[in-house]
Amino acid sequence: MSIPYGKQSISKEDIDKVVEILKSDFITQGPAVETFENNLSSYTGAKHVLSFNSATSALHVACLSAGLSHGDILWTSPISFVASSNCALYCGAKIDFVDIDKNTFNISIDALKAKLKIAELENKLPKIIIPVHLAGLPCQLKELKSLSEDYGFKIIEDASHAIGAEYFGSKIGSCDYSDAVVFSFHPVKIITSGEGGALLTNDHDIFSKSELLRSHGIQKNKDLLFENHGDWYYEQQLLGFNYRMTDIQAALGSSQLQRIEEFIEKRNLVAKQYIRRLSHLPLEFQTVDSELKSSYHLFIIKVLVDEIGISHKQIFSSLRKRGIGVNLHYIPIYRQPYYKNFYNYNSKDFLNSEDYYSSAISIPMYPTLTAREIDFVVNEIQAIFDNEQ
Ligand SMILES: *Cc1c(COP(=O)(O)O)cnc(C)c1O
Repeated sequence: MSIPYGKQSISKEDIDKVVEILKSDFITQGPAVETFENNLSSYTGAKHVLSFNSATSALHVACLSAGLSHGDILWTSPISFVASSNCALYCGAKIDFVDIDKNTFNISIDALKAKLKIAELENKLPKIIIPVHLAGLPCQLKELKSLSEDYGFKIIEDASHAIGAEYFGSKIGSCDYSDAVVFSFHPVKIITSGEGGALLTNDHDIFSKSELLRSHGIQKNKDLLFENHGDWYYEQQLLGFNYRMTDIQAALGSSQLQRIEEFIEKRNLVAKQYIRRLSHLPLEFQTVDSELKSSYHLFIIKVLVDEIGISHKQIFSSLRKRGIGVNLHYIPIYRQPYYKNFYNYNSKDFLNSEDYYSSAISIPMYPTLTAREIDFVVNEIQAIFDNEQ
């Protein structure tokens, strides 16, 4: 048996919806894009939704629209995909990282508070903080929002893992606690559009600037700066990009969104089984407070390596050899060679991130995982530990 760590689920209906678009007049810049955006808005409660060709593009544009520019500073979690911090670099801003919490693996509020105090004294406060809902577990948004009011930074949630997750009864994506939220629809994520992303916001200025930036900075019909020459007229008002989603992708996204409840429930059921069947082993899992609902994009186990006679690396490679497509999400971003060119980290500042990196493993998690496959994963993990006793 060979089981990947994540996998999309495409139904016949998903395929039919895509084919329908392929046979229609518009395969891009047509009505399916707006329909998908409206569907995301109804689902999350966010006032404005813009689809993008990736979450990476959406993060870039969100940063620009929130005013990030040369010399500004952006903070995020080092335990994330590189896109969470590359978006700052695209804008010419500086990047810094805040250590994670050892129980949730999300940005640590204590570490953040301490770092903000020092940054204020040194006049190096961040303009934007990007909390990442790792594996679909919501960050402490109330605490983040309150700190943003004290220190004047903006919040862009990297919710690439977290569509379908809930925080105190509010859906991730509602923007109840942030300036903007970004989703990813890459095939390993909760719902997919092939490639794709979305930017959600309740802020009209962020919305209208992002809409321009998504498509070359070009404005047509409304809010013109110069005189309208005629029906052909358009204006490039900003230096934008082509970050648009196609209607083919949007149709798949809308169809997948209809199935999201089923996906989230199934992922939560798999997580429940893993927790029940693995908790007697020297492992730790993300702590999920009762007010939160994780979308379980990933299921991460942390191996208590000090308590056993086998290394993290050995367990990882042994699972791969046994046909279990484990992964590690993520290498701390500050360790990447590219980041070493300009970011000198002190591992003492990132004790929890370093500890996480030396012990975390993502095990298979997707909605179509069968009971047999779950048995297989659980039994193989058990066998590795049994061999070590
Ligand atoms: C996948 C991912 C991204 C990037 O998403 P794309 O749609 O592939 O650009 C950004 N941040 C996190 C945390 C991710 O997991």
